[in-house]
Amino acid sequence: MEDERIDRRGSLLRIAGLAAAAAGGAAWKTASGDAAGPTAVASGLVTCVLAPEMTEGPYYVPGATVRSDIRAGKPGTPLALRLGVANVSTCKPIAGAAVDVWHADAGGVYSDEQVENTVGQTFLRGVQRTAASGFATFRTIYPGWYPGRTVHIHVKVHIGGNVVHTGQLFFDDALTDAVYRRTPYSTRPNRDTRNANDSIYVNGGSRSLLSVKRQGSGYAGTIWMGVHA
Ligand code: FE
Repeated sequence: MEDERIDRRGSLLRIAGLAAAAAGGAAWKTASGDAAGPTAVASGLVTCVLAPEMTEGPYYVPGATVRSDIRAGKPGTPLALRLGVANVSTCKPIAGAAVDVWHADAGGVYSDEQVENTVGQTFLRGVQRTAASGFATFRTIYPGWYPGRTVHIHVKVHIGGNVVHTGQLFFDDALTDAVYRRTPYSTRPNRDTRNANDSIYVNGGSRSLLSVKRQGSGYAGTIWMGVHA
């Protein structure tokens, strides 16, 4: 594992990407790869697909603010996230799950980290509860990159105070190329890691690819995460 270094609390988090797959979750995918919902499940268009557990990495901060808009003034291409939580046993949506996301800004920097000189800042972190539909929604920006990693968003799902899923969400590289040609990302060209050579992505990351569509001046990304409730 090249990256996801020792975290600031001193615990070594080089968990192999698939280490906890057996305790992990699933996501809905249609044959075309689009994320789909319970209606599609009922109609037989999709099946529950096991999604890999992945290391939380060094930059998790517990107790993030409950808010939907996590941008906190950070510039970047708008990204609306619809993150669905489903019961892997029944493929039914779970309401009231807490979904925790965090990611780097356009410059590849995380908030609230000593090594980033961002202690006390909370940009691009937040928690939302899933609605009856199973979805938690966030307004954010397309993440920037940092050395040694492909573009990603970290996610944790909690139910009743227990962590039931820890994962990372990924983007199609061609989409990232297009986004990064524009400001503010274009000031940092030559990202060094793409999905195919990312040490985390290669352990099942294709099953954690966001389904992304254009939305307004930016994008909307959707995925289902199946968990053991
Ligand atoms: Fe990260």
